[in-house]
Amino acid sequence: MNGSGPLLEVQGLHVWFDLAGGRELHAVQGIDFDLGPGERMGLVGESGCGKTTAILAIMGLLPPSASAAGHVLLNGMDMYEAGEDSVRPHRWRDIAMVFQGAMNAFNPVRRIVDQIVEPMELHEIAEGRAARVRAGDLLELVGISARQASRYPHEFSGGMRQRAAIAMALACGPKVLLADEPTTALDVMIQAQVLELLTGLTRELGLSLILVTHDLPIVAQTCDRAAVMYAGKIVESGPTEDLFHTPRHPYTRLLFSATPDLYGRGEVISIPGTPPRLDREVLGCAFAPRCDMAFEPCPSVVPRTLPVAPGHGARCHLNDPAMRSAS
Ligand code: SF4
Repeated sequence: MNGSGPLLEVQGLHVWFDLAGGRELHAVQGIDFDLGPGERMGLVGESGCGKTTAILAIMGLLPPSASAAGHVLLNGMDMYEAGEDSVRPHRWRDIAMVFQGAMNAFNPVRRIVDQIVEPMELHEIAEGRAARVRAGDLLELVGISARQASRYPHEFSGGMRQRAAIAMALACGPKVLLADEPTTALDVMIQAQVLELLTGLTRELGLSLILVTHDLPIVAQTCDRAAVMYAGKIVESGPTEDLFHTPRHPYTRLLFSATPDLYGRGEVISIPGTPPRLDREVLGCAFAPRCDMAFEPCPSVVPRTLPVAPGHGARCHLNDPAMRSAS
């Protein structure tokens, strides 16, 4: 990878799932973003908003029932145009993923060290003794003693397995790491340690990070930038501080009210209603049935993303003077 420009560019990414009866579920509906070297971006939203599907599409790991369109450029190489044979050598080597649920990332009957060594040997990063030494170093890097490398996954605590899953994702020295809900099911202290670890690794190794979470305080604590997804679209994105202090989309504001802080403090107000079904066409703003600020054009006109501050955009008619004056 060279060091100039964004490492990862996502342009107009769509993902559809085939459903029974010839129907389709439009899970990701044209998302765009860039990720620069060493940058940490949080992808946030409720369950089912398309965030996990989006990063699986970026990794090229969608299930056979899904199809994707758009452009995913990894250091300038369009992964969709290049095709699987050209992309395979770069997956795990240049871009890697920490999957949701650390226990599922490991084969329960194989030792942790063997599972970290495997991608290294597959991608010819290291083999034999050198690969095992590197696996021990990676475990040390994530705060696990190399002496524990020969243990089985069930011999690790949940926090240790999550750390080991991060070590495994780092095995081939990627520059971009996609982490899908890496702290789910961990208690708050371990959660804070894993987030601190991810932040530290981005600094030490110059890693770029996409952190997928439903938890806004985690993004505030960890990321430089945040993108909020709703019903398959990015509805607001911008520098974390700006977005957190001045959210410009009603969904982002409600998401803050619906989330306690990292330590479970604060009154939690749930968002009324449910997200729309994505196997049906949505007219107008997808958030309109749940939005307490909806006005005349919202149910019928799809909002555009407009800049609201430097590097900060929101997809809401409230930020569109033409819509406000016409209503
Ligand atoms: Fe609410 Fe309308 Fe903005 Fe959608 S476009 S978030 S319905 S105000």
